[in-house]
Amino acid sequence: AVGLIQRGMGAYQRIGQALCLPAEPARTHMPAVRPRTRVLTRPAGPQEKPALALEDLTFGYDPDRPVLRGISFTAPHRSQTALVGRSGAGKSTVFALAARFYEPDGGLLLFDGRPATELSREECRSRIAIVDQNTHVVHGTLRANITYAQPHASEAEIERVVELAQLSDVAARLPGGLSGMLGERGGTLSGGERQRVALARALLARPSLLLLDEPTSHLDAVNETALTAVMRDAAQECAVLVIAHRLSTVQHADRIVVLDRGTAVACGPHEELLATSPVYRELAAGQILRPATTRSTGPHPTHA
Ligand code: ADP
Ligand code: MG
Repeated sequence: AVGLIQRGMGAYQRIGQALCLPAEPARTHMPAVRPRTRVLTRPAGPQEKPALALEDLTFGYDPDRPVLRGISFTAPHRSQTALVGRSGAGKSTVFALAARFYEPDGGLLLFDGRPATELSREECRSRIAIVDQNTHVVHGTLRANITYAQPHASEAEIERVVELAQLSDVAARLPGGLSGMLGERGGTLSGGERQRVALARALLARPSLLLLDEPTSHLDAVNETALTAVMRDAAQECAVLVIAHRLSTVQHADRIVVLDRGTAVACGPHEELLATSPVYRELAAGQILRPATTRSTGPHPTHA
C-alpha cells in the first residue's frame, strides 16, 4: 500500500510540476547523502511562496457557462511568466480575478501563499499593477504622466522607473526632459513608448506582481527590444505575468503557461513546449505568436 501511495504521490508531483503548481517540500524520507550546497543566485528561499497562485480555480461570468475550469498555475517572484492561449481562452479573465473585479466560483486564489479572501480587495490591488492594451497618455509633462497616481514620488524614484521603463531616450529627446510636454494624446510618442510610460507609472507603485497585457499591434525592432528589456528588469524586482502575443516575449520568459478553454494544459520554457505541447505548437505556428520583428524583412511602419 505504501508503494502505491508513493507512486501516487510521485505522479501527483509530476503533474504538479507539469502544471507549475507550487512544489511541495519532500518530507517522506531523509536524504541518504547531504545534498550538494547549491549556489543561490537569488535571495529567494525555498519557502518563498509565489506572488500569485491559482489552485483549481473555476469561474464564469454566467455561473452556467464556466470560463475558467479548474485552472492551476503560479507566478513566482523575480520571474517572468507568460500566459498564452487562443482568443477566448480566459487570459484576461485571469487578470480580472487577480484584481478581484470578480470572485471565483471555486478553488483558490493566493497572494504570497495567502488566500485572497483573507485580504481586502484594496490590499490585493495594492500588490498588483495592471498594464493593459489601452495605454493612455494625458496632455501634460512626461513626469506628470508617470506620477499622476503617485504625486509624492521622490525624484530618485521617478528616475529609477524612467530608467527601468527604458524611457531615458524619450526624456532626453523631449525639450525640457521630464518636464517636457506630451501632446494632446501623446502624439509625440510611438505606441511602444506610450506603453512604457504606462509601465513606468505601474512600476512607480512598486507592485509585487505586474500584470501586462502585451500589445497585439506591431512594434518596431527598437520598441520590441525595449519592451523585452523592461520585462526582464521588472522581473528583477517583482513577479511579471504577461499575456504574450509575441514570439520574442515567450522566448525570453522564464516559463510559459498554456491556457486552453479555461485550464492550464502545459507549462514550461518555449523549446520544451514546442516539443511537448500540441496546443502550444499550434499557437506558435499561427497568428497568435508572431515572429520577432527583428527577423522580418518586409516594410514596416516605424511607429506602432
Ligand atoms: P482571452 O483574454 O483569452 O481572449 P477572455 O478572458 O477575455 O479571453 O474571455 C474568456 C471568455 O469569457 C470568452 O468566452 C468571453 O466571451 C467571455 N467574457 C470575457 N469577458 C466577459 C464579460 N465581462 N462578461 C461576459 N463574458 C465575458
Ligand atoms: Mg484578452
